[in-house]
Amino acid sequence: MSKKPRILVAECMQEISSFNPLQSEYANFHIEHGAQMLVQKGINTGLGGALAVFDEVGFEPVLTISARAGSAGLLSRPGWNRLMGEVMEAIAAEAGSGIAGVYFSMHGAMGADGELDPEGYLLAEIRKLVGPDVPIVISLDLHGILTERMLRQIDGLAIYHTYPHVDFASTGARAARVLHRLVTDKRVKPTIARVTIPALVRGDELITKTGCYGSLVREARRLELEGTAMSAGIMIGNPFTDVPELCCQVIVATDNDADLAQAEAVRLAQEFWPLRHRMQGKFSSLERAIAQARSIPGPVIFTDAADATSSGATGDSNLILRGLQQAGYTKKVLAQIVDADAAAAAHQAGVGATVQLTLGGGIDPARFTPMPVTARVQLLSDGRARLETMKIGLDAGPTAVLTWDNVTVVVFSKTLSLFDRAMYFANGLDPRDFDLIVVKSPHTEHHMYEAWADCNFNVDVPGATSANLPTLGHTICARPIYPLDADVAFAPRATVYSR
Ligand SMILES: [Zn+2]
Repeated sequence: MSKKPRILVAECMQEISSFNPLQSEYANFHIEHGAQMLVQKGINTGLGGALAVFDEVGFEPVLTISARAGSAGLLSRPGWNRLMGEVMEAIAAEAGSGIAGVYFSMHGAMGADGELDPEGYLLAEIRKLVGPDVPIVISLDLHGILTERMLRQIDGLAIYHTYPHVDFASTGARAARVLHRLVTDKRVKPTIARVTIPALVRGDELITKTGCYGSLVREARRLELEGTAMSAGIMIGNPFTDVPELCCQVIVATDNDADLAQAEAVRLAQEFWPLRHRMQGKFSSLERAIAQARSIPGPVIFTDAADATSSGATGDSNLILRGLQQAGYTKKVLAQIVDADAAAAAHQAGVGATVQLTLGGGIDPARFTPMPVTARVQLLSDGRARLETMKIGLDAGPTAVLTWDNVTVVVFSKTLSLFDRAMYFANGLDPRDFDLIVVKSPHTEHHMYEAWADCNFNVDVPGATSANLPTLGHTICARPIYPLDADVAFAPRATVYSR
């Protein structure tokens, strides 16, 4: 009986916003070692999708470590050193034992104090351990920043093709199939063409189902499905991750056909470039949004993309709540905010108590000032839930529902992803019962809000993840870059990576 090929499996995922003043730490990461990683089996994650394929094709996964963190500020230097040490130790323990291939599940938008390309570092270290001949295949979020250093280490990749992201598992599965091909047919010679585009993009046109970005991604997907490319994708980077190689980029990988890979990558980049103007946020001022909301009979959404925790913001913005209060808005408001002190005070006081406290402004005091409120504690919870689509666990720490006048606010102790309704449902609240719902995410899946709301206002307020990109203050990414600079020129040129 022949032995199954052994595939080293690892995961390290975080997306950071350089404009969040609070650095993230080792404690932000949820870490699973070895067989603990099997909890992702059957779940809609990259690892879940890859493990299913490894089962199907008869590969033996050698599970090393999974480290996943929600989006947050730059990872601190001690946080990175400890995380990197633990990840590399777990991988090194298995890397010598007859490994046929490596699958690494990544996001691509990590950043650490002192190491602005953590994924590149990890891949370079893994390459040293496994040697030049073992194929390394990664999966990436389309918001990741795929760097030169990463490209020099990998043999294959798969990139998300949907935004809002729903294809986590299928992306992992695509990466696993690339790896299967490389492990079982040594004649395959991956040839990856990369065209970088000096642009940062944001806004509704990035929604792949409906936006112009989606029609380009479908071209990339077609190249994969038809077999023209082993992998193809259009990465837009996370515009809040201010690192040297932040940009948009087209990636096309073929089997030993550099001309084809380059031609397709250049073509897609050429198609992308004139659309950069459309792929920007379109905003309402807060005053205008409130005034219009009053005149709309049905429910409205106030999208606070600037405080999108899933993109790395703090979650402690109270600017919309303040604006509504100042404007004397009287219809029923539902909102969320991160404020550990307020949550603790509510837990101390108990359900039914009236508390005087401040909300927000505790993490990003340069942008937000604490808002004094007198509120009733309506409900207390442990802040645990599961994401609606991915079913991954959420932990907001001690959580409280506070109410005053026409306002209901869910107060969390910890910053966590708020791109669906999970934390509303988990705290006994249905957004449909309200007239104005604040959503701290640039986009949500259609059925969650837009299917039943009368209007979705993209409110232009400050925050660490504002879609008003020139307001953020990038200092590290290569310049010039649209829309931070005027008159940016672009002549698409492909660089080919082949190991
Ligand atoms: Zn993403």
